[in-house]
Amino acid sequence: MKTYHLAVIKGDGIGPEIVDETTKVLDAAGKRFGFRFDYRPCLLGGCAIDAVGVPLPEETVRICKGADSVLLGAVGGEKWDTLPGHLRPEAGLLGIRAALGLYANLRPARIFAPLKEASPIKSAVIGEGLDIMVVRELTGGIYFGARGRREIDGVPAAYDTECYCVPEIERICRTGFALAQKRDKRLCSVDKANVLESSRLWRETVTRLAEDYPEVALSHMYVDNCAMQLVRNPRQFDVLVTSNLFGDILSDEASMISGSIGMLASASLAGGGFGLYEPIHGSAPDIAGRGVANPLAAILSGAMLLQYSLGEPEAAQAIELAVNGALAALRTPDIWEEGCKRVGTKEMGDAVAERLPG
Ligand code: NAD
Repeated sequence: MKTYHLAVIKGDGIGPEIVDETTKVLDAAGKRFGFRFDYRPCLLGGCAIDAVGVPLPEETVRICKGADSVLLGAVGGEKWDTLPGHLRPEAGLLGIRAALGLYANLRPARIFAPLKEASPIKSAVIGEGLDIMVVRELTGGIYFGARGRREIDGVPAAYDTECYCVPEIERICRTGFALAQKRDKRLCSVDKANVLESSRLWRETVTRLAEDYPEVALSHMYVDNCAMQLVRNPRQFDVLVTSNLFGDILSDEASMISGSIGMLASASLAGGGFGLYEPIHGSAPDIAGRGVANPLAAILSGAMLLQYSLGEPEAAQAIELAVNGALAALRTPDIWEEGCKRVGTKEMGDAVAERLPG
């Protein structure tokens, strides 16, 4: 039987609780679809600081690099908040992303039918549902460009630089095209080409690449208009591709359309199908250890792992359908509404695993 090797970082707070439910669901999917997992646990964040004194042990990088992909819960907590910056749990998170060369961040913004009412967007706008994928460049642009402070005309000033080179733009845009090919074949490239030179290079490059993807309809949109269109008419979008800065903002905006932080999955991809999969929420120390955390963002991250790194799209789709089925009757407290049964983390995980096709 095919065996996939996964590095598993449970992390801090609710991380261990939600990751346990995710591996439970992945194992159940493996049974149904004919594969198995070899999980390789490793430390990151606060638990790594407690165990070995640093947030990102070398051993963790080694295990992750040797795995097919990485599953991550969440890291951080008050206990480590007073440590110097380079020793805090967040440094471990940034460090592992850099060490693994994760350049493409995928953030799905979708609404599961039973949760339609939880969205801040009117149901008339949502219609039958929403399914947008935001693809954000993760290792370039203004977050990594030259920056500094100086004095201009006798007053203190500061600057940051947006700089993209063609190979960086090509790499992320090809990820966008490839995703669009497998979805509704529409790619919207977001930029600010009316003002920024880096955006003009971005637009030229993505337009040139479009010749390689004739079946994908490419459009362009200025970032300010896109921010507006995401709430005015989000159904017009299939895949959005954008720079690090614009993607940071738009992916948060788009994902909030779904209405609950406990439902939001993400993937960060390197080349060759390798990726790190994690819910977008943090370690939720306020509810950790109480068995009430919503495991669905982590479980849906596991489904993305099957889809984008392991080439098991049927298993991924089965998990998404099982989540939809579980939501029709059961809810963790964060998404509970009248008429639904209130359940804990473990019961929700069981409900998804049980609903996978036999
Ligand atoms: P958070 O996402 O952990 O929590 C925000 C709120 O959402 C809390 O009320 C929490 O209870 C709730 N929440 C989050 N996930 C939930 C879930 N699955 N089910 C139910 N409720 C959920 O953000 P925060 O409180 O700002 O940060 C807490 C810690 O997490 C900090 O140390 C922060 O640095 C860290 N953090 C880590 C990551 C990561 O690991 N990727 C991301 C963000 C924050």
